[in-house]
Amino acid sequence: MSELHTKTLTELAGLLQDGTVTVTEAVEACLSRIEATEPSVRALITVTADEARTQAAAMDAQGPDPAKPLWGVPVVLKDLLTTRGTRTTCASKILENFVPFYDATSVTRLREAGAVVIGKANMDEFAMGSSTENSAFFQTGNPWDVERVPGGSSGGSGASVAAGQCFAALGTDTGGSIRLPASFCGIVGLKPTYGRVSRYGLIAYGSSLDQIGPMTRSVEDAARVLQVIAGHDPRDSTSVDVPVPDYLSGLGRESLDGVTIGLPREYWGEGLDPEVEAACRAAVAKAEALGATTVPVSLSLTDYAIATYYIIAMAEASSNLSRFDGVRFGHRSEGAEELIDMYTASRTEGFGDEVQRRIIMGTYVLSSGYYDAYYNKAAKVRRLLRQDFDTALTQCDLIAGPVCPTTAFKAGAKADPLQMYLMDIFTISLNLAGLPGMSLPVGLGSDSGMPVGLQLMGRPFEEATMLSVAACLECNLDPMPQPAL
Ligand code: GLN
Repeated sequence: MSELHTKTLTELAGLLQDGTVTVTEAVEACLSRIEATEPSVRALITVTADEARTQAAAMDAQGPDPAKPLWGVPVVLKDLLTTRGTRTTCASKILENFVPFYDATSVTRLREAGAVVIGKANMDEFAMGSSTENSAFFQTGNPWDVERVPGGSSGGSGASVAAGQCFAALGTDTGGSIRLPASFCGIVGLKPTYGRVSRYGLIAYGSSLDQIGPMTRSVEDAARVLQVIAGHDPRDSTSVDVPVPDYLSGLGRESLDGVTIGLPREYWGEGLDPEVEAACRAAVAKAEALGATTVPVSLSLTDYAIATYYIIAMAEASSNLSRFDGVRFGHRSEGAEELIDMYTASRTEGFGDEVQRRIIMGTYVLSSGYYDAYYNKAAKVRRLLRQDFDTALTQCDLIAGPVCPTTAFKAGAKADPLQMYLMDIFTISLNLAGLPGMSLPVGLGSDSGMPVGLQLMGRPFEEATMLSVAACLECNLDPMPQPAL
């Protein structure tokens, strides 16, 4: 079974259930893949090999459990999801040695469904970034070309899935951090509707924007993971109590007859790399050939999305990160004599540059005198952006566009933070509106040879529609190759 890592989660889950593969074999296949690829990819901050092996042996002794849809499936978690007894760092020095005493709800649900956690993935520190270069520990390479970034902030999760180190990973998406690395790494990444998946145990960045979602090698795999993690949680007051549909039942469709796809003109024009545009247009043409109708729509406030998002995200971050004071959590500076000095020194030593920049900016936009000019204004634009989406989604079932203007860039190429923020132009509006979206790999760019993702965006809680259209497209597009690692 040396090729086990090339299988999808769906295939592996079947082999585990019918006893063709043992959990130990699945875990060992992932651990050897990690050993072979980590020297160049560096996707993982922590590998939980011992725990995974012990758990695998115990599960094999019991035998397959058909009631557990992910029985024996090795998974990776972004390192901002709390894991009981396993270090959870947010890729930050301030939490370098933080060992939580509870699991995040999404992690509990994965474990209850039989999944085996084999590692915690690298990320931009506190999920702030678009390339995973902001990790305080090390950079992650894109499995397609390790000189290039895997995207961010869930870059470790994306790279791990693409490199075949695991069969699914969880990421989080505050402004694109699932969709962007999925696009850059050539895998499927889904950001659910705000409130669809519990955020309990997710170390918060922008609480009104963050959502946890699956990153996988196929659409069906994403549906299976979402099925497990979705649903109301009394421990998260923003999780919504609406029934979770059967995401798998809609997947077999053979045509896209009756589906209307909106193409926002603001997403298909200026600034889009020709190779990205070509690959995305070819995928849309395939959707049309399969029976879908396309209509032009407008997301007219797209130009304001970056400013709006960064004001709101930084404001929320400055508040969320105030808990890291060197007293209750994480790193404490030695040697400060006074309490205030100790706070200052702990935070100065513990937080990286990008995190400090955002805390300063966030505090500024929330300060009296500037609150109305910035934060309040941004909150109003946010409401208008949602109206834009609502209007567009009365004209179509789904909106389609690129995930990012470019394919994966070289590490170090976007040293200017503002250049980096521009990478989020097509992803952040969706978070401000709270709607679901996903990235579907649609081929390789003709210049760079790097993966291109098509973004699908849907109505609230209509992940099932998005998944069924994506699955039909996936099945009819040329199969996505795997990186030659
Ligand atoms: N790149 C965006 C930011 O830095 C989005 C990150 C995310 O979705 N976590 O805020």
